[in-house]
Amino acid sequence: MTAGQRVVVVGASLAGVNAVHGLRAAGFAGRVSVVGAEPHVPYDRPPLSKQSLLGTEPRALDVHDDAEWLLGRRAMSVDLASRVVELDGGAGLGFDGLVIATGAEAVRPPWRDVVALRTLDDCRALRAALDGGAGHVVVVGAGFVGAEVAASCRAQGVAVTVADELDLPLARSCGPLVGEVLAALHREHGARLELGVKVAAVHEGGRAGRHEVELADGRVLAADVVVAGLGARPATGWLSGSGLALDDGVLCDETLLAAPGVVAAGDVCRRPSRAFGTSLRVEHWTNAVEQGEYAGRRLHAALSGGPAPEPFDAVPYLWTEQYGHTVQMFGCPEPGDEIHVVHGDPAARRFAAVHVRGGVVRAVTGMDCPARVRRLRPLVAGAQRWTTSATGTETTCWNR
Ligand SMILES: Cc1cc2nc3c(=O)[nH]c(=O)nc-3n(C[C@H](O)[C@H](O)[C@H](O)COP(=O)(O)OP(=O)(O)OC[C@H]3O[C@@H](n4cnc5c(N)ncnc54)[C@H](O)[C@@H]3O)c2cc1C
Repeated sequence: MTAGQRVVVVGASLAGVNAVHGLRAAGFAGRVSVVGAEPHVPYDRPPLSKQSLLGTEPRALDVHDDAEWLLGRRAMSVDLASRVVELDGGAGLGFDGLVIATGAEAVRPPWRDVVALRTLDDCRALRAALDGGAGHVVVVGAGFVGAEVAASCRAQGVAVTVADELDLPLARSCGPLVGEVLAALHREHGARLELGVKVAAVHEGGRAGRHEVELADGRVLAADVVVAGLGARPATGWLSGSGLALDDGVLCDETLLAAPGVVAAGDVCRRPSRAFGTSLRVEHWTNAVEQGEYAGRRLHAALSGGPAPEPFDAVPYLWTEQYGHTVQMFGCPEPGDEIHVVHGDPAARRFAAVHVRGGVVRAVTGMDCPARVRRLRPLVAGAQRWTTSATGTETTCWNR
């Protein structure tokens, strides 16, 4: 039934690759064309701030042979009425179904010669700078990419300072307990943290060609390399004027449908969540895999006239690796959550904790306790009310 149809996937990375798997697994028999702006064979992004900064290239993703890969090509716009994606160079790709999987782009500050880390090319540039004998690196932003870059610098013996206007690393994504444990870990490994202070500007041409990083309190840090870890924005520029609803991502329904025959998946997708009673856009690896595969199946249902799958409502999941420790997080922590340590001891860098908001478990965080963290996940998925009997452990609140 779908043999004569064509699907265009824009974005040849994790969500796009998994959308192709989802389409084929659901039985889509037509033509699939994947457009990717990066010239590289699709690769895994998480190693870019970890092993790849130490010299190991990221692994290639497992791509479907039964698709046409247009790499090094950028989609410039889409016309939903005539169902054509316009590529750079002027060519147009007609489609019956469209997958939007353009991910996110690093926020790049206006300061010259500051490296951001999103792509393999960014990673190679940063690695070359580190290999070139950088004595001191300043990382602006202590989110998960910034903190991982700092840990990778320390693993190579490079002096590093991390500056952030927030008081703790990873405070937004994982909350204050993980933040405190990681701050102590960074300091123990010799990273300098300048927290609670904004970077006002980065100036070029200090002594011996070094950068001068000016903090809002007037202090100046000399740096050979400055890395921006300022987060990412959804890559939706090419969709402006398309008629799709855009608001910090492509707005989709609960089944990731953005318009008839158009789905979005991965970092670019914003969808309603029943479990959290709000809309979510998630910038994590597992989400891109799960949404990509789901979006492929959803699109096949739309194109073949089959029933839509159950709404997508997976609990967001993130992991990060720093100094040989793995932090995991399920759910959506927020400032002000009550945090209860239900297993282990944060001081020993081995624990699992629940984050409670309005009496309900909204997130689970942990370090080096994967089985415990996984076991607590259903409390978040089921939006369970918090009682100490929920985990069978007596706990006291860590932050009240
Ligand atoms: C350095 C780094 C480390 C990370 N580490 C972790 C981790 O430890 N744990 C974790 O859970 N997550 C991690 N992540 C997040 C995870 O990698 C992302 O959530 C995931 O890559 C998202 O996949 P995606 O396919 O949605 O988007 P992306 O991977 O961003 O891919 C989107 C692709 O679309 C292309 N594109 C954009 N616009 C166009 C266009 N107009 N035309 C054609 N192509 C276009 C882009 O070039 C890109 O290749 C990390 C991310 C980074 C950057």
